Amino acid sequence: MLLIPSWGRDLFGLLFPNLCNACGASLFLGEKLICTKCLFDLPLTDYHLYQKNKVMKQLWGRVPLNAAMALLYFRKGAKAQRLIHSLKYNGKTDVGILLGSMIGERIKLNSIYSDIDFIVPVPLHHQKLRSRGYNQSSFIAEGIAQTINIPFKEEILIRTISTESQTRKNRFSRYENMKAVFKAPETDQITGKHILLVDDVITTGATLEACANALLVQGALKVSIAALAFAE
Ligand SMILES: [Zn+2]
Repeated sequence: MLLIPSWGRDLFGLLFPNLCNACGASLFLGEKLICTKCLFDLPLTDYHLYQKNKVMKQLWGRVPLNAAMALLYFRKGAKAQRLIHSLKYNGKTDVGILLGSMIGERIKLNSIYSDIDFIVPVPLHHQKLRSRGYNQSSFIAEGIAQTINIPFKEEILIRTISTESQTRKNRFSRYENMKAVFKAPETDQITGKHILLVDDVITTGATLEACANALLVQGALKVSIAALAFAE
């Protein structure tokens, strides 16, 4: 085996940016975005198979949901975090589409998700959208949409207030603050519909709770949730 010093690997990576987004190893022919070993090692939850999973339990009593799942367990320093970091901060939007398609393959297997009318990504505030250039959740939604063949709609939810300053508040006051943050327009597009809400990482659930409530207030019949990862 040819040993390459780390500075050589870095240079190689700059010249040939075809590296695994989870571990940084060079990809083999036929591998895309994530190497085979990392794909095999992904901490999958299988929450799509169980209605009483930890995401559902976390939001229990806070908002009535049809179903909820997350693809991966989120652990600091682990591969799932690196994948999400590359999607959120390094412009690797293809990673969002790929992981979104993995969500799509899974929810196809459970009939509780079979009557979804359309998919809505959790929106960013317009200032954040401008500075980042894209909404990472829209790419996850796109991957799901392509796989289950259902449209996704970005204009259904609006984030009216930036929540940057809220990170130090406790869970209750965060939700109280969050309630006013998301608005769904009055539109007959929502009435009577089953909507799949899509986010990147679920931590307190306050964001999804506020988004789901905004959709239900405007007459959505059912709201389900799909996220890339769940932080236990
Ligand atoms: Zn890898």
